[in-house]
Amino acid sequence: MQIYDHPTFQMACQQFDLVADLLEIPECDRDRLKFPKRSMVVALPIERDDGCTEVFAGYRVQHHLTLGPTKGGLRYHPDVTLGEVAALAMWMSWKCALTGLPYGGAKGGIACDPRTMSAGELERLTRRFTQEMIPFIGPQVDVMAPDMGTNEQVMAWMMDTYSMHVGHTVPGIVTGKPVSLGGSVGRREATGRGVAYLINRAMDTLQLDAAKATAVVQGFGNVGSVTAYSLAKYGVKIVGASDVAGGLYNPAGLDLDRLAAHLARHKTVAGFAEAEPVTNEQLLRLPCDILVPAALERQITEANAGRLRCRILAEAANGPTTPAADRIIAERPEIFVLPDVLCNAGGVIVSYFEWVQDLQSFFWTETEVAEKLFRILEHAFVEILKLSRTRGLSMRLAALRLGVKRLHDAKRIRGLFP
Ligand code: GLU
Repeated sequence: MQIYDHPTFQMACQQFDLVADLLEIPECDRDRLKFPKRSMVVALPIERDDGCTEVFAGYRVQHHLTLGPTKGGLRYHPDVTLGEVAALAMWMSWKCALTGLPYGGAKGGIACDPRTMSAGELERLTRRFTQEMIPFIGPQVDVMAPDMGTNEQVMAWMMDTYSMHVGHTVPGIVTGKPVSLGGSVGRREATGRGVAYLINRAMDTLQLDAAKATAVVQGFGNVGSVTAYSLAKYGVKIVGASDVAGGLYNPAGLDLDRLAAHLARHKTVAGFAEAEPVTNEQLLRLPCDILVPAALERQITEANAGRLRCRILAEAANGPTTPAADRIIAERPEIFVLPDVLCNAGGVIVSYFEWVQDLQSFFWTETEVAEKLFRILEHAFVEILKLSRTRGLSMRLAALRLGVKRLHDAKRIRGLFP
């Protein structure tokens, strides 16, 4: 299927093929597991604030419908393409399957730069996209959530547009909504908290002392910043951070509150006076115990994988490490990888809790949410570590093996339809 051609989609397919070989999945069953069930591409004309009309491209890919509704984020970024979104949808499928969530994977995106758009323009774009998606979404069909460049406000507009269409309020149509509209407490923090929880478990496994550990975080959006704060609570010193505008390094540790104040004022971490500026490439090669890529895909490549100086590579982003980089890291057993599909699963796990709470109209406390989140992550971490050790697999292959096998089994039992 040529329409998905994109380096990120090829990367997801390469990962899938490795796992399919391991599981000895017959060739004739593979395409059905790999290619999305359905994909929508829509033209979104909106009125810009200057009165002109501009058309944006919107995408939604639903990877499979075998285990329940599809689930996954909506990304606003200038480089979004169908192939990228399809790869991200496939990863959502494995992520949901390996954590035992009753969902297929999905992902959506609009090729736009939200940083250059007014709130009014973003609202018109979001409402128009939701309107176009109405035949293909629903709380039992496909449930969106925030991803890069989107947030609670975007989810609120989607929920409102859908609800107006059906004539009553439907909170379960999206997750990651404001708590006041049926969102879950702890959803905003869930991905970063989950990342930090798993890093802490990895530190236990490697017998690293959190109070002596250092971390570098690439990408300081919702996921990266919450990860940094949560790691600091475990006693870890954050020595490096970055965003699109640049990176920072301070071996004595960054003061996160002052960095947050700088970020609020300047909309970037770059230029923070209490650290040296570093480039993105330098940042990835800083000496640290924990490296957290929390930005875009394909950041750890064959060009830099040999030069990482961390003990734990915690993939908070989706797809930050290419298969070529994986092969290099496989030769470096001193690096413990927390693969994306496990590492950042906290977000979709609490999205699942939000959806369940919406369907029941019965809401939980933050302690209940956090306890249930950590229970699921703990179970997945132990299962994947065990599989990795007993079968001599990388943590990524062990995680993907678990996810792909669950889906393959379900498809075999159900038949060809979903
Ligand atoms: N966008 C997030 C992810 O990539 C969350 C998806 C969700 O909560 O549905 O995992």
